Amino acid sequence: MNVKVRPQLLSLKAYTPGKSSEEVQREYKLEKIVKLASNENPYGTSPFVKEAISKIDNFAIYPDGASTALRKEVAEYTGVKEDQLIFSSGLDELIQIISKALLDENFNTVMASGTFPQYRHNAVVQNAEIREVPLKNGCHDLPEMAKQIDDNTQVVWICNPNNPTGTYVDNKELEQFLQSIPSHVLVVMDEAYYEYVTVEDYPETIPLLDQYDNLMVLRTFSKAFGLASFRIGYGIGAASFIQQLEVVRLPFNTSVLAQKAALAALKDLDFVKQSVSLNAIELQKYYEFCKQHQIDFYTSQGNFIFISIPGKESAEVFQYLLERGYTVRPFPNGVRITVGTKEENEELFELIEKIVLIAH
Ligand SMILES: *Cc1c(COP(=O)(O)O)cnc(C)c1O
Repeated sequence: MNVKVRPQLLSLKAYTPGKSSEEVQREYKLEKIVKLASNENPYGTSPFVKEAISKIDNFAIYPDGASTALRKEVAEYTGVKEDQLIFSSGLDELIQIISKALLDENFNTVMASGTFPQYRHNAVVQNAEIREVPLKNGCHDLPEMAKQIDDNTQVVWICNPNNPTGTYVDNKELEQFLQSIPSHVLVVMDEAYYEYVTVEDYPETIPLLDQYDNLMVLRTFSKAFGLASFRIGYGIGAASFIQQLEVVRLPFNTSVLAQKAALAALKDLDFVKQSVSLNAIELQKYYEFCKQHQIDFYTSQGNFIFISIPGKESAEVFQYLLERGYTVRPFPNGVRITVGTKEENEELFELIEKIVLIAH
């Protein structure tokens, strides 16, 4: 084979979702698998969605490339103008669109190390210089990130709340940061878990768009709305900038199914509210459980929690839970667990208790 991909791709791995639930189930002869590895909504999806997509009766026609109906509803839901929105096949695709539009070998991009991996991945594909700033106590270190910015910086990524730690940047920190950086730098706020946030000083970024036209906000239907399988998310920014990003977007990047599903999900905000309030209740139980067992954790604003069991390697914790039917996400210094239903969490606590006993 003499065909050569661009050299920067050689350092990357294709996304590996790990073993499928079916494989794990067969290998360890398990009755059931509880997937707590990807922060999906444990309560599923609004019943409105199933009804809406069952009504689609023509599969031969391309989707509406402009997402007209959904655009109208999302504009209303978020309180922005329709031309401030761009839709994508999940935020994964929007991160790619932004990276394609802004990054190449002449530029750099600033992000935290210990955050959502797609920012880095796409920057490598674009052959841009990556400037990573370590998290400080699990949080974005905005003053240090600001110091990394120079004339060649195109985009700064802020994952808020941060995946995998669940920590957040508060409104004061963010405003200070925005005031301190030059206006040629795009600041991307990845708010994939926006609906789950409960703290009062979390920054409401949409009103800030009037003041900072170099700000962009990313939201998704994959998490609290429970639509991860459909692949649909959106970005909010200055209309003139959104128009430029549109050039990079595939003409039919969101499917008829995804658009209809998102529209239906927006009509059932009670479902989201219910999911969010149950999540807050279950998170509290995690905090109490962790304190009781001297397990380190970060307080989370998402539907997941990052924990670290003293004296235990995260790979061991991951494997122990996997063999008993619970999939979580391992990191070098801990594991990220999606907050499940009451029953799922209770079962998981029992298993973790056993790991703690082995550890001591
Ligand atoms: C899940 C997640 C995404 C990707 O979501 P999709 O819309 O499903 O592509 C983006 N950012 C963060 C921080 C996430 O956790």
